Amino acid sequence: MRREFLPFYMPMIEQSEVDELIDTLKSGWLTTGPKTKQFESLFKGFIGCNYAVALTSCTAAMHLALVALGIKEGDEVITTPYTFAATAEVIIHAGAKCVFVDVEPDTANIDADRIEAAITEKTKAIIPVHFAGHPCDMEKVLNLAKSYNLHVVEDAAHAIGSEYQNKKIGSIGDVSCFSFYANKNLTTGEGGMATTNSLDLAEKIKLLSLHGISHNAWQRYSMNGSWYYEILDAGYKYNMSDIQASLGIHQLKKFERCQAIRLEYTKLYNELLAEVLEVKVPVIKDKDKIKHSWHLYVIQLQLEKLAIDRGRFISELHRSNIGSSVHFIPLHLHPYYQKNYGFKRGDFPVAEDFYKRAISIPLYPRMTTDDVKDVVEAIKNIIAHAGL
Ligand SMILES: *Cc1c(COP(=O)(O)O)cnc(C)c1O
Repeated sequence: MRREFLPFYMPMIEQSEVDELIDTLKSGWLTTGPKTKQFESLFKGFIGCNYAVALTSCTAAMHLALVALGIKEGDEVITTPYTFAATAEVIIHAGAKCVFVDVEPDTANIDADRIEAAITEKTKAIIPVHFAGHPCDMEKVLNLAKSYNLHVVEDAAHAIGSEYQNKKIGSIGDVSCFSFYANKNLTTGEGGMATTNSLDLAEKIKLLSLHGISHNAWQRYSMNGSWYYEILDAGYKYNMSDIQASLGIHQLKKFERCQAIRLEYTKLYNELLAEVLEVKVPVIKDKDKIKHSWHLYVIQLQLEKLAIDRGRFISELHRSNIGSSVHFIPLHLHPYYQKNYGFKRGDFPVAEDFYKRAISIPLYPRMTTDDVKDVVEAIKNIIAHAGL
């Protein structure tokens, strides 16, 4: 058994991030400024979209996307219960009602074949969540959106680097929202980005991100700036700082190197777990159509073959010095949604079944191949004692 605890996740911060951060701290400009602008420009180039607006979080990006699209009270927005709190709460913050559609059993992505039945006259948008980094069936989602005149805002928190039909996620929907939270594939500690091909939406999101003020502070306080500004809307305070962008610039520069390591570890997990019948490894649907970003490696316990449940399996992993996590507790099982939306257990059975079996095991570039092997050894040991 391993001696040292293997955390579920550790970010890859190197000297280049540290140097850039110190440069920013010494520069005299800490909030949104030249580094944020540089990060936006690099990110836009990486995604292959027309506009990228750097924000404080993916949550902020989704909120602003909905507001910029005019989503308001009385509207309905479709998403899935198999996601983080953020995806549904922004719908509520925009004043709309969230409508859940169950997921596909293999990917835990929104089941595109069930969306149409959930569309009403009030439906204004769909928020597909690219779970774990596996892109949703965007062809179906975009076709439905077109025939019903709906907007598509993507929760791309897991999908930096994911591709659909040879295009990067972030370049195909109305607005895509990325997260740079500490455990995402690219981190700025906290942070996010909205990408779009629409100038109008990019300008609206930018304006709303800083109090609806006509010129941002950098434009006002730099050499050629003017003190004068106008408030054009009741905006928000969602702008990214240059401190965050300093990290982002270098995280993006090494992104492909880190992704290659993730892919290598994914293949190793697949190979080593192939013989373990009590565990199902992540499924890739439409291999020739998509590229997975491998934000998460979620195994599915074949509970029928085990004498212990998922909770006990996680405790055993922890006792074996292996960190793990669960993505996600379906939203309709949480008290808020049960109280305010009347949801109950059984409403979204596919999501519930996926959840019951899911464990996210460590997958990140700071791990070694020995760490990957240790995780698999621990899994095999637990099963040896808990098999039927
Ligand atoms: C992390 C995450 C978010 C929220 O990202 P923040 O940048 O922390 O706001 C949203 N959706 C999903 C699916 C996530 O995993």
